[in-house]
Amino acid sequence: MKYTKEISLHSRWDVIVCGAGPAGIAAAVTASRLGMKVMLLERYGVVGGCLTLGNVATVMGGVAPGTIRDEIASLLSSPNGETGIDCESAKGILTDLLAGEKVEFRLQCPVVDAYVVDGEIRGVFALTQQGVVLMEAKRVIDATGDGYAAAMAGCEVMTGRDGDGLVQPSSLMYIIEGMDEESTLVCRHEEDDTVFPDGRRYLAMCERAAAEGRLPANVTIVRLYKTGRKGERLVNATQMNGVTILADGDAERSEIELRRQMEMVNRFLREEVPGCENVRVRISASTLGVRESRRIRGRYLLEAEDLIAGRVFEDAVVHRADFCIDIHNPTGGGQAETGGQPYRTQPYDIPMRALQPLHVDNLVLSGRSISGSHRAHASYRVMNIAMAIGQASGTMAAVSVRDGCRISELDYRAVQRSLEEQGCRLRD
Ligand SMILES: Cc1cc2nc3c(=O)[nH]c(=O)nc-3n(C[C@H](O)[C@H](O)[C@H](O)COP(=O)(O)OP(=O)(O)OC[C@H]3O[C@@H](n4cnc5c(N)ncnc54)[C@H](O)[C@@H]3O)c2cc1C
Repeated sequence: MKYTKEISLHSRWDVIVCGAGPAGIAAAVTASRLGMKVMLLERYGVVGGCLTLGNVATVMGGVAPGTIRDEIASLLSSPNGETGIDCESAKGILTDLLAGEKVEFRLQCPVVDAYVVDGEIRGVFALTQQGVVLMEAKRVIDATGDGYAAAMAGCEVMTGRDGDGLVQPSSLMYIIEGMDEESTLVCRHEEDDTVFPDGRRYLAMCERAAAEGRLPANVTIVRLYKTGRKGERLVNATQMNGVTILADGDAERSEIELRRQMEMVNRFLREEVPGCENVRVRISASTLGVRESRRIRGRYLLEAEDLIAGRVFEDAVVHRADFCIDIHNPTGGGQAETGGQPYRTQPYDIPMRALQPLHVDNLVLSGRSISGSHRAHASYRVMNIAMAIGQASGTMAAVSVRDGCRISELDYRAVQRSLEEQGCRLRD
């Protein structure tokens, strides 16, 4: 064993969930509701992942009604009915949800390694104030977003797109205040232009500023989403290309570059965009927003073609997942898909096999690191879908403990029965 300092904190859990982002929270709550003794481990001091610390206030994507996503969405809805959620209050709401569901959780407790015996995960090593401790469980769910636990367990890791292996850029999301609502704009994506009274087009203004050096060259669009508060916008603009955060120094280089980019973007808004003359930063993400890092190979690799065709799977554990293939350009500004627009998909299923890793048993994949291609990942990574995947992963772990079978031996019909009993719709 790698660690000499081992303390078994408790006897054993049924399920350990690594990572308390949207997927991990959904997984932990679900497994607890199904009668499991659950431990949720989070490396930061706040739960929510991208949804809170990442300042990603726009919870996007669709899934068939009846999943835990509906419940969490209604808990998070902003009081005045605007689309953006309040990332600040989400911190408390999500913590209350976990406490109310009797999920045991540890904060400031990074998972540092996996405990694998004979090809089967039996727990994780986590860093606590007592040192590195072994925490044993019958099943482990990897909801770290980065596929960290799976990678440590020896699963096959995939990164980036075919050919050059590049990933989507990372970003720092932030909120500005002080916009004049009478004269300014919302810009949600590459097809959402605004024409100002003097005839200038917003998207063209962004592109010109990037070409002429008043915006970073790779920031060819400054997306501005409404939050729940008047005069505020969530800014999705900064982007760091050419890093995976898996290499030493990537996170630090990104932090330096993106904080500088924030200054440039704000100057552009103040000096060139009507209604933005007085904007200032209200809050920025507390951690780098990583769109794409490790993807873990499972028994099925979800492909873009499955999404484009709206494929239905016999072993579906998420039904009618719905979001475009949204690839922020790995080499420059805007979108990577042909024509510069996200590629349309049809509502599609996510099969149970995409959550079952190859080679390591009793581990369940969850959230954005499940088994799929670079292009497919660009769709199912959004938070509503991540939550539904989380619920599926929690259900898989619980059914496998209940039925005394390994994750590799799970009967998808038993998992589907449980999901349907929870209210999920898995067929039209
Ligand atoms: C810049 C940016 C903009 C985005 N915009 C949108 C958008 O507009 N709408 C949308 O719906 N989605 C958006 N997304 C995508 C979405 O936010 C994520 O894909 C989604 O949050 C994935 O959920 P998750 O639970 O799998 O991972 P995460 O939200 O990343 O959560 C993972 C959690 O695991 C924890 N963790 C990681 N490693 C460890 C460890 N070793 N030990 C313990 N804990 C660990 C992390 O701290 C985190 O809390 C965006 C993402 C980024 C980065």
